[in-house]
Amino acid sequence: MRFDVFTLLPDTFSPYLQASILQKAAERGLLEFHVHNIRDYTHDRHHTTDDTPYGGGGGMVMKPEPVFEAVESVLSTQPACPVILMTPQGRVFNQKIALDLATLPQVALLCGRYEGIDERIREHLVTDEISIGDYVLTGGELPALILIDAIARLLPGVLGDPDGAMDDSHASGLLEYPHYTRPPEFRGWGVPETLLSGDHGRISRWRREQALLRTLHRRPDILEKAELSKAEQKFIEDQKRKE
Ligand code: SAM
Repeated sequence: MRFDVFTLLPDTFSPYLQASILQKAAERGLLEFHVHNIRDYTHDRHHTTDDTPYGGGGGMVMKPEPVFEAVESVLSTQPACPVILMTPQGRVFNQKIALDLATLPQVALLCGRYEGIDERIREHLVTDEISIGDYVLTGGELPALILIDAIARLLPGVLGDPDGAMDDSHASGLLEYPHYTRPPEFRGWGVPETLLSGDHGRISRWRREQALLRTLHRRPDILEKAELSKAEQKFIEDQKRKE
């Protein structure tokens, strides 16, 4: 899968991408990262990428010309792909969106700065808008990295464990069960006996129950939408009555 990122701060990407498992996946040819500096597509002496807002007010706005030129010149040699604007006004990112985007061969991510971008970019260049949550950051670089990370780890071969992403929180509509590792006792705190039993049937039932309980207690909103068997629905109802 190919990621094209358009940003005014291209140097912010490599420290994370090169230090993570994503770099290994890129070396194996599973991922390609192309980070483009929007400033390289300016033509004036000062390489201007922003200007004051029409109508007045504080802050600066990213100018349309370099953004259009950057995106159009890079993507003109590529098959059509979504151009996703990182914005706190977009649809809120979640695992389902990550799964959908992971089916595509390429996505382009546009990172805003300052007060954001000239509205004509959003109207005529951008095809999708994604927020990483209801708060405002100084730029779209961290949101773009979050998308890249969440999407890339879903691609076959990227994670060491091929089934690693399957049980993750939100992948199955539930939060994931708790994990334990060695030592079996730490500061007097043990590990649930079931996990040490070697009985895979029992372990998998325990994990499913724990996932159900965690989701019930922490995210009842997503439990309502999860696909549960009759027995699981009864388990939840019994649990609610007990509590
Ligand atoms: N004035 C804009 C508004 O109120 O919608 C916010 C601009 S913000 C300071 C600058 C840039 O950071 C945005 O253009 C966007 O690219 C990015 N950004 C900030 N918060 C974000 C979020 N929650 N999700 C995605 N991108 C975000």
